[in-house]
Amino acid sequence: MHDNPAKSRSVTAARRLSGRTVAGVGVVLVVAVTAAWGLTTRSEPAAHADATADRAPGGGTTTAEVTPEVTPEGADKAADKAADEAADEGGTSDGRQLTPFDTRYPAIARLDERLLKAVQQAARDARDDGIEFRVTSGWRSKAHQQRLLDEGIEKYGSAEKARQFVNTPQKSTHVSGKAVDIGPTDADDWLIRNGSDYGLCQVYNNEMWHFELLTRPGGTCPAPLSNAAG
Ligand SMILES: [Zn+2]
Repeated sequence: MHDNPAKSRSVTAARRLSGRTVAGVGVVLVVAVTAAWGLTTRSEPAAHADATADRAPGGGTTTAEVTPEVTPEGADKAADKAADEAADEGGTSDGRQLTPFDTRYPAIARLDERLLKAVQQAARDARDDGIEFRVTSGWRSKAHQQRLLDEGIEKYGSAEKARQFVNTPQKSTHVSGKAVDIGPTDADDWLIRNGSDYGLCQVYNNEMWHFELLTRPGGTCPAPLSNAAG
């Protein structure tokens, strides 16, 4: 019996096909490896060119634009936002140096109008003597006053001691807009000497910075109390 010639041809064809397939795979592999090598060798100069471009003046300009415009300014804006929120409560402890004329801040704008006018006039006259007024604290929200009291209790160890320096939100004349704290010391000295000309009086012996309208302009100030609790 001979092998079925058809079957034999078919096996031969299959072997040939198989052989061609193997060869084909080999060619494909060679082409792929060559292509990959080509890509690698081409990509190296390309990457180098990119790196060079980054260091070129154009790239440097991009970096310079990004650095000041995004990072620090963004940080400044965040700090400003926090400060603005604190300022809305009448806070002045963010390092800003407020004058009696900075009326865009609630700490100044929400002061009693008569008190603000008196302090502004005193500040103008003091400036003629070379003295600059700063408002270290003006109007305060109840929440801000409570925070100051809480901080005072922590600092002085008891509510009784803290009350000699910080009033309750209910009693504080800062909350009602009828008190200002002025600095620095030479401004306080000036105002203690001349404040009554404007109706401004030192209220507490232990707070040379705290002033209220307690007399008419040119009048006589009442004797200061020993402290905020007294
Ligand atoms: Zn005060």
